Amino acid sequence: MASNTELHQRRNAVFPRGMGALHPIYIERARNAEMWDVEGKRYIDFAGGIAVLNTGHSHPVINLAVQQQVERFSHTCLMVNPYESAIELAEKLCTLAPISGEKKAFFVSTGAEAVENAIKIARAATGRSGVIAFTGGFHGRTHYAMGLTGKVVPYKAGFGPFPAEIHHVPFPIEYHGVTVEDSIAAIHSLFKCSIEPSRVAAIILEPVQGEGGFYAAPPELMRALRQICDQHGILLIADEIQTGFARTGTMFAMQQYDVEADLMTMAKSLAGGYPLAAVVGRAAVMDAPAPGGLGGTYAGSPVAIAAALAVLKVIEDEQLVQRSQTLGELLLARLKALQARYPQRIGEVRGKGAMVAMEFVKQGDAHQPDADVTKAVVLAAAQAGLILLSCGTYANVIRFLMPLTAPDALVEEGLAILATVLEQT
Ligand code: PLP
Repeated sequence: MASNTELHQRRNAVFPRGMGALHPIYIERARNAEMWDVEGKRYIDFAGGIAVLNTGHSHPVINLAVQQQVERFSHTCLMVNPYESAIELAEKLCTLAPISGEKKAFFVSTGAEAVENAIKIARAATGRSGVIAFTGGFHGRTHYAMGLTGKVVPYKAGFGPFPAEIHHVPFPIEYHGVTVEDSIAAIHSLFKCSIEPSRVAAIILEPVQGEGGFYAAPPELMRALRQICDQHGILLIADEIQTGFARTGTMFAMQQYDVEADLMTMAKSLAGGYPLAAVVGRAAVMDAPAPGGLGGTYAGSPVAIAAALAVLKVIEDEQLVQRSQTLGELLLARLKALQARYPQRIGEVRGKGAMVAMEFVKQGDAHQPDADVTKAVVLAAAQAGLILLSCGTYANVIRFLMPLTAPDALVEEGLAILATVLEQT
């Protein structure tokens, strides 16, 4: 078998440089929260394929469901010859989504597509075109989703111009001196100076910003947004692509707020590694696009649907919502102990459920992000057998997204590697 170095050389020759690669580590097999590379080296996976693997790598229940589906049929196109499993999954997602009243759901393949379609639906339902999004937000790499995304480098640089009538307002982060009042004032000044509220179709936000650094939306923000939406006939879209499926200690993060969204986008851990995304929302809103206005060749692949039904079963059978809470507590306790050991270098440690993050700051200055140290820690950890993932507007945050199925002993082993790496970095 080719070595990591050989594969990396081949990769660099054939993939465009815009396609980043964090580690020159080529995976040969993976189970639950462990991976082995082509040279037989073992890694503990704290990245979870970027929030895709809440149910772990190659879960036997999901594997079996996929194998059985492939034996029956692998594709027909949901718009040509539909199948019962897709209806069953849509019914389940409608039941689970924290939106009251009659709901509808439909499928696409990626998170960005789910976002694009939520905007299409919001535009069709309101007859308006404006959308308000937040700085630090991430919604994907297709053109409109990229336009909604707050961070310019590297996601948007060189790819503009972006669709018109997307307006960004600051996301409240107290640590950075931005309050909920600032965010709401920014929306009101938008209404005064840039776009009348009667031209705004939707406000979109992640209940916990993912790529932006794991910042949870304060409850007062969510309440104020709901009120603005109700007052002006605007739809509220919760992007739960990274937060969904038990990651934050509830099935969806929106369950932890006392207001509801009109539309929700879901992807990532929905199908445990198979490309599947969904838009779920109030039935009257979801029905706005005319027949034929929604869909896609692979939208709701039967293989991915089979995986998703198995994912939901695993989340329930293995009580992963409760597990997310205990895992989150364990992570927060251990990371806060590390913060106490290195108060000069580790800034905030924060989290909702098992969506936990730790910041690195310049020696002794809690407000100066340190991207270099963060990168050094990620690379050194990989050498030591632990896969970590960074995020954040300033690339100084390490986010913990290990499978919720990871046993405590493995999590402790990974955290011990992290402690050793911190000692040596
Ligand atoms: N929305 C959020 C909150 C995300 O975290 C992501 C991906 O990281 C996306 C949308 C885009 O999803 P995808 O990469 O599947 O297109």
